[in-house]
Amino acid sequence: MQYQSTRDKNLKASSAQAILNGLAPDGGLYTMPSFDEVKFDYTTVLNMDTMSMSTKILSKLLPDFSEAEMAKLVHDGYTGKFETDHLTPTVPVGENFILELFRGPTSAFKDVALSMLPRLMTASKEKLGVDDEILILTATSGDTGKAAMEGFCDVTGTKIIVFYPHGGVSAVQQAQMATQAGENVCVCAVRGNFDDAQTGVKKIFSAVSKDQLLEGKGVRLSSANSINIGRLAPQVVYYYRAYADLVQAGRIQPGDKVDYVVPTGNFGDILAGYFAKEMGLPVGKLVCASNANNVLTDFLRTGRYDRRRPFYKTVSPSMDILVSSNLERLLYLLSGDDKLIADLMKQLSENGEYEVPADMLEKLHELFWAGFCGDEGAKTAIGKVWKDDHYLCDTHTAVAWDVAQQYKQANPEHNAVVVLSTASPYKFPAAVLEGIGEKAEGDEFDVMEQLHKVTGVPVPKNLADLRSRAVRHRDVIDRGEMLDYVLGKAAAEK
Ligand SMILES: *Cc1c(COP(=O)(O)O)cnc(C)c1O
Repeated sequence: MQYQSTRDKNLKASSAQAILNGLAPDGGLYTMPSFDEVKFDYTTVLNMDTMSMSTKILSKLLPDFSEAEMAKLVHDGYTGKFETDHLTPTVPVGENFILELFRGPTSAFKDVALSMLPRLMTASKEKLGVDDEILILTATSGDTGKAAMEGFCDVTGTKIIVFYPHGGVSAVQQAQMATQAGENVCVCAVRGNFDDAQTGVKKIFSAVSKDQLLEGKGVRLSSANSINIGRLAPQVVYYYRAYADLVQAGRIQPGDKVDYVVPTGNFGDILAGYFAKEMGLPVGKLVCASNANNVLTDFLRTGRYDRRRPFYKTVSPSMDILVSSNLERLLYLLSGDDKLIADLMKQLSENGEYEVPADMLEKLHELFWAGFCGDEGAKTAIGKVWKDDHYLCDTHTAVAWDVAQQYKQANPEHNAVVVLSTASPYKFPAAVLEGIGEKAEGDEFDVMEQLHKVTGVPVPKNLADLRSRAVRHRDVIDRGEMLDYVLGKAAAEK
């Protein structure tokens, strides 16, 4: 199976090439031509452990790797890193189920994919006979940077540089990054906001390719964000994991459909659910949950995407996003029409909006349901779930929980409902504490302790000892210095 660009079918790449390239050369996203070659009988994985299940599903999606090769990559990527080898447990909460994706090394759901991506990248490099060192550049508003560094930490043949806005991330996120171990990782604050850091990184990519700044240096740049198919594929697995867990617990029979409610930002997580459905898992509705930045709710209801709207900073910051990159893959898979997608994306970048044809909207309505929930609603949901079910959920999960209730009310015929939980409540302790009716006091670390005292819910180990860990990264630079900073690091001893 060859992947192809969403904007030009003729730009093809094997799975290993797609992982190494990240983005297609025309700016499109590498996507499979159809699901024909990746479909399989889901009942064959229902009794597998998570590692074997990951191996099976990932070698379907990334066919350059045999099952034996993939088994080793999965083992190296995940063993000992998560709270359990099950990786992503599903727990009953009230009438719903919560799929906990945050039991990894940085307590964010991005760990599931970013534990695998570095392995997939180095294996792709070997397969293609590329000797260059891979230098990952990432701009982060907090979560992705830490999860990416943890994933790439001491992976041979790779280096990673993370830029974050100086003073623009939470105290916990700042401490998580500044204390990161590893000989090949580097974190640097940039004076400016997140957009400045992100624009700076994009400029570095184009300057390096235009002026061939790394030519002959044995280094090539790559990115760890969710446009990479190697980051998307590992996320498909937990949809199967949750389904199998519900079967094993006797909550559903094989063949019953399950509805999944997904707190959505860049549309990567929920797109992985669509992949699972098209690969043959009995998925009912995929419910797209947004916060006040509800561009996707409007789109999935009306077929009109319009990013020209106010940007809100919310208590679920990882979903504060107005351009959801991975949506492009869905539109391509639904239409198979690369010309149409190229045109829609052009309209989006030039006019800030586009509208999909009526037949595509009809398909979207069959597959998806969409809703949103503001900050007050999210805090109320945190309080209610705590009071009724004694389950403590984070702000992103709370958005999904609230939308799940909206969905069930509007669709009394719904299936079993799985709500995806994307972060530990201890990553957003102040808002969570308010949600359960307490007043936060002191700095973020104090608030974490306070939340623990009030609820008794254990603090994940990686967050509990943060305050006492040694700071290893102190660099702060101006925007204009980013390129020189990267070239300096690229030239440093391997
Ligand atoms: C990244 C993130 C999301 C959004 O996931 P997408 O794949 O971008 O839709 C939701 N919650 C948390 C905590 C995240 O870190």
